[in-house]
Amino acid sequence: MTGMNMKTSGNHKTSKYDFLIVGAGLAGASFAHKAVSAGKTCLVIDRNPYIAGLAHTEFVGPIAVHTFGAHIFHTNDDELWHYVNGLTEFNNFINSPMANYRGEVYNLPFNMNTFNKMWGTWRPEDAQAKIAEQRAAQTGEPRNLEEQAISLVGEDVYRKLVQGYTEKQWGRDCTELPAFIIRRLPVRFTYDNNYFTDPHQGIPRAGYDVLVARMLEGSDVKLSTDFDPWYRENWRSVADRLVFTGQIDHFFRQELGMLEWRTVRFESERLEIPNYQGVAVMNFTDRETPWTRIIEHKHFNPVDCDFTIVTREYPAEWQPGEQAAYTVNDERNTQLYERYRKMAADLNDVIFCGRLAEYKYLNMDQVILRAQEIARQALS
Ligand SMILES: Cc1cc2nc3c(=O)[nH]c(=O)nc-3n(C[C@H](O)[C@H](O)[C@H](O)COP(=O)(O)OP(=O)(O)OC[C@H]3O[C@@H](n4cnc5c(N)ncnc54)[C@H](O)[C@@H]3O)c2cc1C
Repeated sequence: MTGMNMKTSGNHKTSKYDFLIVGAGLAGASFAHKAVSAGKTCLVIDRNPYIAGLAHTEFVGPIAVHTFGAHIFHTNDDELWHYVNGLTEFNNFINSPMANYRGEVYNLPFNMNTFNKMWGTWRPEDAQAKIAEQRAAQTGEPRNLEEQAISLVGEDVYRKLVQGYTEKQWGRDCTELPAFIIRRLPVRFTYDNNYFTDPHQGIPRAGYDVLVARMLEGSDVKLSTDFDPWYRENWRSVADRLVFTGQIDHFFRQELGMLEWRTVRFESERLEIPNYQGVAVMNFTDRETPWTRIIEHKHFNPVDCDFTIVTREYPAEWQPGEQAAYTVNDERNTQLYERYRKMAADLNDVIFCGRLAEYKYLNMDQVILRAQEIARQALS
């Protein structure tokens, strides 16, 4: 971590920084990188004892473990791809996840391999006809997620590959979930198992922490350091401006109410076998299996060793203090966020940035691009 001044909490600097950045995830680090490149000084604090936020990876022997679930970098932005590759080397990982329905294994995203296994059809025309016939069973405006999904992919794909997974994800039956949660269910009539359509895709060979460490070069970084209580009270004595990448309602002490999230519980296990499931990501799409996915980390960045690490993912209700994973974009939360956003807009010396502050699911490439844009505006 060359150039990084890693410090621990309790050692408060007296001279002023241009920016105090709360959060050493991709948003905070991207902002810091832009600001430092423009000759500004930054202090970055994070309550975690590590950098990179949700993208944090830790090595167990030669295996890079994605602590908070599969993190696959993909983008259609050439310049961004060039930028991240200039910071650290990426491999050529292609995400081709599998779906496991009671032991029957299907390719994702839904494509000709999936349809061949499901119905024995091998020509696109036959698969299209099968789906069209099943979609037609759903008439009228879909009233819930089940009807919406059937109207998009038909009964068979819905029952085996969508229903159980979605019900586990949201903790409710699909008939009780609103239709808008699923707007699209991509269906491909080619034998293409590449999940993402972006032209660039890969995983940093040395892990995401190295990528983020490179972005943080030139900034002072204090880990295990919360914004509360000291920095909340005193940040104006530390820096001219504040960049907050934590939860926006938390910043405002939840004075309008609490924004809701879904969380994911991760259970990792070391197995003394070289290969557990033969693929990095396997979705478990039946309702009975309690987890939604198993990640086998060594397949993200293939290494030759006689053990493996797998992580089971269990979606769960979010409780305050837990890792906030997915936003709940219903009417209440959308309106509440809008009210917080207006309060944020009134603060001249505080900048809100990142998935927690913007209450929005963002992929890593989107987070970097938005943080860069927000930094550009702040620096102009
Ligand atoms: C399960 C899951 C899988 C994902 N997989 C992918 C994927 O495959 N590809 C992809 O592109 N994206 C993926 N993402 C999205 C990706 O994780 C985010 O885009 C990215 O990590 C967001 O960066 P961020 O800096 O905005 O937030 P975070 O990474 O959450 O960073 C915010 C940081 O702020 C710190 N912080 C917050 N409040 C305080 C406070 N009060 N005091 C001090 N520090 C504080 C936190 O500790 C944290 O380190 C996934 C997300 C989830 C939930």
